[in-house]
Amino acid sequence: MNIGDTVLHMLKEEISDIEYNRYIKQLNYLPKSSRSNLAVFEVPNPLIASWVKNRYAEKIAHLFEVKTGNRPDVEIRLKKPKSAAGKSGMKKTEKSPSEPALLTMLNPAYTFANFVAGSSNQFAYAAAKSVSEKPGQVYNPLFIYGGVGLGKTHLMQAIGNALLPQGKSVIYTSVEQFVNDFTRHLRNQTMDHFKEKYRQCDLLLIDDVQFLSNKIQTQEEFFHTFETLRNDGKQIVMTADKPPKRIAGLEARLQSRFEWGLVADIQPPELETKIAIIKKKCELNRVILGNDVINYIATVIESNTREIEGILSKLHAYSQLMHQEITIDFAKNVLREQLQEKSDNITIDSIMKTIARELNVKPSEIRSKSRSRNIVAARRVAIYLTRELTPMSMPQIAQYFGMKDHSTVSHTMKKIHRLLEEDEAFKIRIEELHNKISARTHTEQ
Ligand code: ADP
Ligand code: MG
Repeated sequence: MNIGDTVLHMLKEEISDIEYNRYIKQLNYLPKSSRSNLAVFEVPNPLIASWVKNRYAEKIAHLFEVKTGNRPDVEIRLKKPKSAAGKSGMKKTEKSPSEPALLTMLNPAYTFANFVAGSSNQFAYAAAKSVSEKPGQVYNPLFIYGGVGLGKTHLMQAIGNALLPQGKSVIYTSVEQFVNDFTRHLRNQTMDHFKEKYRQCDLLLIDDVQFLSNKIQTQEEFFHTFETLRNDGKQIVMTADKPPKRIAGLEARLQSRFEWGLVADIQPPELETKIAIIKKKCELNRVILGNDVINYIATVIESNTREIEGILSKLHAYSQLMHQEITIDFAKNVLREQLQEKSDNITIDSIMKTIARELNVKPSEIRSKSRSRNIVAARRVAIYLTRELTPMSMPQIAQYFGMKDHSTVSHTMKKIHRLLEEDEAFKIRIEELHNKISARTHTEQ
């Protein structure tokens, strides 16, 4: 495997399968055209070229640095058409990724203006905003934690993007990169450079600090960096997938320091926030979608908003290819593959687990004879989704729920069908549950 392929393989681990298959898989590394400071890839069409350039060039450069110690410029070239006839309109090809972004390693699109605040992330958003207004003065360090794809990196970089124009020096780094940098300088006996580099910035953004876990030597170095910066009134912002307390193998002194400033969590977005994020991404990517399609996408995706851009680009690409408007049916068709993949092997257990968790009842309650309102509602939904998503027959379902015969199941099905027709909010909620069940089944395999 050449270095280009190795890097793409690493990238695969970090992005969704859909994104990988749609874009990254299409990249072809050109070792002969590449040098230590330039990595050249070839792609089949301009859409993929601009997508990769905007979304992944930074990441690819970073992964090269992790692997080789050198951070190259990343060039995305269009594959030359084989026949001379295929000149085609490939106007959009720009040569190299934008300079400022490369220098600072920040994604220029990760700004506060492009971030959608909603109740799930309001607290972290407000904290990040005030840190950007008064760096080093309010919450230091700021520690943001939450699940994958919930916008931690975006929010953290928004602080950097806000401070850069004021001439502040900003370092954005993953822990992985920090560790790599550290070991490389240690090996080359250039620790002075390392110290200088990290200790002289105004704003240090360290992403995914859960990876400090059990790295004793790096923790030691990070501790000193942290102390120096903080004593000098320099701002530190960190993210992780869990709060400091729950990061195993983290020195007590670091853990307590991580909690000195403010610890803010980001929760999975509610439906409205998801919809607003999709709208924002449409705007940024210049994709026009009707509200019905947007609502549909919002119910298809899970909490991980990383999928959104992949989906938009997929829709956009298909609609261009087939000269079709993106209607709801068109969207369903295009995304079917992805949904189908997910709906294999759904069992009544996974349905019960998801419904219990989402509707806040116990699985045993759903199967009980309780008539309390929320339990009855959960039971109905469970019956409906089991019938829709599993091969179980009505008598089998009746038996599972301890009912005399299948007439109750049949009655429930009718009732839910009616509700689905009458109540749009209910319909969206059911679709959302369906998607969560599929997602869960999918990830547990
Ligand atoms: P994390 O670092 O938490 O895994 P990212 O910051 O990488 O997540 O976010 C994943 C994608 O979702 C990015 O494209 C980001 O812009 C987008 N995103 C997440 N949350 C929001 C939000 N609230 N508003 C706008 N975009 C968001
Ligand atoms: Mg991140």
